[in-house]
Amino acid sequence: MEKHLFKQYALNDWMNEVISKLGFYEPTAIQAKVIPEALKGKDIIGQSETGSGKTHAFLIPLLNKLDINQSETQIVLTAPTRELAIQIYDEVKKIMQFSVNEDIWRAKLIIGGTDKKRMVEKMKQPPHIVVGTPGRILDLIQEGVLDIYSARSFVIDETDLMLELGLIEEIDRILTNADPDIQVMVFSATIPEKLQPFLKKYLNAPLYVNIDDRLAPEKLEHRLIDLRHREQADVIFDISKIIQPYLAIIFTNGKEKANQLAEQLQTKGLEVGLIHGGLNQRERKRVLKEIQQLKYQYIVATDLAARGIDIKGVSHVINAELPKEESFYLHRVGRTARAGMEGTAINLYHEEDIALIKKLEKKGLTFTFYDVVKGEWREAKAWNVRQKRERQESDIEKKAWQQTRKPKKVKPGYKKKMKKQQQRVKKKLARNQFKKK
Ligand code: AMP
Repeated sequence: MEKHLFKQYALNDWMNEVISKLGFYEPTAIQAKVIPEALKGKDIIGQSETGSGKTHAFLIPLLNKLDINQSETQIVLTAPTRELAIQIYDEVKKIMQFSVNEDIWRAKLIIGGTDKKRMVEKMKQPPHIVVGTPGRILDLIQEGVLDIYSARSFVIDETDLMLELGLIEEIDRILTNADPDIQVMVFSATIPEKLQPFLKKYLNAPLYVNIDDRLAPEKLEHRLIDLRHREQADVIFDISKIIQPYLAIIFTNGKEKANQLAEQLQTKGLEVGLIHGGLNQRERKRVLKEIQQLKYQYIVATDLAARGIDIKGVSHVINAELPKEESFYLHRVGRTARAGMEGTAINLYHEEDIALIKKLEKKGLTFTFYDVVKGEWREAKAWNVRQKRERQESDIEKKAWQQTRKPKKVKPGYKKKMKKQQQRVKKKLARNQFKKK
């Protein structure tokens, strides 16, 4: 068996073996903080993005604690969307397959959009592990098909999205059916104020873990390109000629724009996939599969569609439009620079985005200014430097006019003459200012 740094946690032998088979050698930052505490049964609030390795931060300790001799439900894992639930379920399955427990454990995926009757049928023997979306889980509890009182651990993934989609109320109702001493683990990229009452209600002296080191400048670069009068598709096409993305996600703020941009880029010859909330379940599944099969080098996406989906190897995030809120920016760029890889975020911006950029800078992000000129990256002036220069220019302009004399007798064409004179004065003033520097 390969040696790996998870050994320090005194996990079961079989789990250590699974970790080797998964190809994990070193715990990620969130895993290092969460695994030992989760093993002890502590309630945890993990603030981290998708890509930090958070799924295994809860799967490894919780599955390690599973008691095969007990036939009741022991672990409940919830996610806000079907895709996210499927993704967690797939990871559970993988761990099961890599272990000796494949035939002993029962894990069930409980999501909407599937045949409920068949699901009820399959639930006759309670699953050890339940993975699902809140609506269907609550539904089965209320019908008396699923009993989670025996569960010892409960995970809420992408909790901020749960809140946004109004699913926290369902989680609340699910938890009223659980043992009050159940271990609750909450994972979220942001912890909105509105979530506090819920956290107070269900978490007992939780450990708070905040991992945002993936946004550190050495791993993730944030570039800004002033869009000016140009079309997004044109600039992105120019960028595509100088970057060699393994996979780039291009974000827009809505599905109409996403449709339009994807089409424009396809016309230009790029291999572009499209994913947004307007697609039906089957179409989304197809696109996700094609993405996994590396059919595309570029994916145009909207926020909700891309949230939390584990797309491997995203090397670039391009914001064709910057979002209105900081948290959305963090979510978007969280798609790249994952699990120790490097990544680049390229943002096309307009003047109205500057407020957002300033806020993000306050959070510690560093932006660099670039443009694409003749098929090459070129460093550009920052908006504040440019503003200063524009201000200086207009000061000189004014001064020059003040020093321009109006002729005593006005003859035809005097305005032209004055303008010429003003230009001369302006040049002189600019020269003097330059010398002063
Ligand atoms: P997640 O944040 O859970 O979506 O995980 C992001 C990706 O990192 C997944 O593809 C995991 O398989 C991978 N991953 C998780 N933990 C580790 C680790 N310790 N070492 C290497 N890769 C990992």
